[in-house]
Amino acid sequence: MENWDITQAEDYYGFKRWGGGHFSVDAEGFVQVHPAGDARTIRVHDIVQEAIGKGIKPPLTIRIQDLLRTRVIELNQLFIAAIKGEAYQGRYRGVFPIKVNQLREVVEEIRDAGKEFNFGLECGSKPELMIALSMHKDPESLIICNGYKDDEFVQLALFGRRLGKEVYLVVEQLSEIQHIIEMSQQMNVKPLIGVRIKLSTAGEGKWASSSGEDAKFGLTSPEIIEVTRRLREAGMEDSLRLVHFHIGSQVPNILTIKKAVIEATRFYCELKKMGFPMGLLDIGGGLGIDYDGSKSNFESSMNYTMQEYTRDVVFNIKAVCERADVPTPDIISESGRAIVAPHSILVTEVIDRISKVTVGPESFVSEDAKKRHDVLRDMDSIVENKYKSGRLERYHDAVQKRDEAHNLFNLGYLNLRDRAEVDALYWSICDDLRREGIDASYNPEELESLPAMLADQYVCNFSVFQSLIDHWACDQLFPAAPLQRLKEAPSVNATLVDITCDSEGKVAKFVDIEDVRHSLRVHQLNADPYYIGFFMVGAYQDIMGDLHNLFGRVNEVHVFLEEDEEDGYYIEDHIKGFTVRDVLKLTQHESSELTRNLKRQIDRATREDRVRPREGVRMLEIYSEILNNHTYLKV
Ligand SMILES: *Cc1c(COP(=O)(O)O)cnc(C)c1O
Repeated sequence: MENWDITQAEDYYGFKRWGGGHFSVDAEGFVQVHPAGDARTIRVHDIVQEAIGKGIKPPLTIRIQDLLRTRVIELNQLFIAAIKGEAYQGRYRGVFPIKVNQLREVVEEIRDAGKEFNFGLECGSKPELMIALSMHKDPESLIICNGYKDDEFVQLALFGRRLGKEVYLVVEQLSEIQHIIEMSQQMNVKPLIGVRIKLSTAGEGKWASSSGEDAKFGLTSPEIIEVTRRLREAGMEDSLRLVHFHIGSQVPNILTIKKAVIEATRFYCELKKMGFPMGLLDIGGGLGIDYDGSKSNFESSMNYTMQEYTRDVVFNIKAVCERADVPTPDIISESGRAIVAPHSILVTEVIDRISKVTVGPESFVSEDAKKRHDVLRDMDSIVENKYKSGRLERYHDAVQKRDEAHNLFNLGYLNLRDRAEVDALYWSICDDLRREGIDASYNPEELESLPAMLADQYVCNFSVFQSLIDHWACDQLFPAAPLQRLKEAPSVNATLVDITCDSEGKVAKFVDIEDVRHSLRVHQLNADPYYIGFFMVGAYQDIMGDLHNLFGRVNEVHVFLEEDEEDGYYIEDHIKGFTVRDVLKLTQHESSELTRNLKRQIDRATREDRVRPREGVRMLEIYSEILNNHTYLKV
């Protein structure tokens, strides 16, 4: 720790390992971000100070918009390079899954950065489709509709077709195909249809249950045959164009991805050979983020790069198609996490420190050595360590003596002052053992917990449940580091606790190259504000806080027993859940603006004779109506 410098700081906090080239420490010891992966940098601490100057205080989410752009461009360019490298016949036509971050500013930035690549949008619910229809401008880019669908959902998607958009309805449940057939006959629109396959390749990682036989999504092979039969029966075989799979988010192991791609491509080839037009293979999400920088198949990491991912996908699709003598499809991927996670930084200020050893043994002065209690003398000799006992032995002795002291205290044979001195000696012995352990080549298991046990708690001004919900709910690790003073060696071991009155509101697990750290080294607090940043927090939980997928609050009824009522109960009142308008408003989408946008498109379609005026008016009415409806499926 003596020769601590910024290189050591970068290494300890792992900026270079997990940052993908976007984070480092500058010469003054401040964290800086490289949004475009070039020489341009921004000091995160400066952003915080400027925000404070405008009255916007931490806890603060900082969005690095250019980092979003960079990730979109990177993903597209890597796919293009892989396609070129393999002389692959077919294009990459990616889409952004809106559910991973629905915030308007995020979606707009991604759409804008992806314009030159015809990057499209994916939606999994009605509100998300409402966003997609209105924000989607480029007729060359796709809209992919996943998720459970009711008639309204299907109808919206078919409006999109009428407006000349390439909107795919991916059939997740057998029952959906009937809705699609009937609705499109009724509206006289030719739908574009995909099927989501329930792969036998099981996922891996935290979200593995998105695939495999028990998954709640996707069609089994008999169900796929049934879908093809119903399409033929309806004379709509021309509509089946796409095979889709999604094996879960944050897939840590590239082997899982390869297997899934191969299996899905086999389904694709078979459907093509059955005579359906096909043309598109959609490999879903799953592209990971290396949160701990270990490049391993640990659940918070990934054992591959984005480049390896793109190459493996392209290579395997091509290989399978060639063997089946089927032309290669255009490739769609739905990477959300990999695009949005890095752009968002959560900044929180440390407002207090809670220590175990605030009062050390040196503050107890014995007046009379002769009267010193036996148990204290025993503690003294553990501290002295005259016989050079090992660390583990001293630890056991200290634990035993402290137990003895507590028993004596409970029985009335030890006074409070002496008990306090025993406790203080105990903590100081443990702290010595911890310090000796730092440079030890081997730490016995019982001593491994000492750093965490002795760690201070740094109280941070934020709520884990609002801002780091994935850490609380699914043990997701996020890199954390002080934003300043990184030229100084951090001398305090701490865990981070939030200001909620919930004992779960804490961060006591931190990323490390191997395993997990149970405390983080930070600096002694001084008169200046001390900020800690959590990094890579931009996916899912960024927007979740209960608005996941823009569903929001559900309806609620309060039921009371009542003898006089026929059924023995009555409902006193009910609370309405969120409407589409409510949740859109909460993510900065003004309903009036969305409606105006769509109206312009309908007007154009009407002028160009693609849509009859009466139909156009009706579309707009229904769009407006749905704004006032609840977000959940109408069944
Ligand atoms: C959630 C989801 C995604 C996004 O997955 P990431 O791992 O975040 O890229 C893509 N497709 C579907 C169907 C999803 O449900």
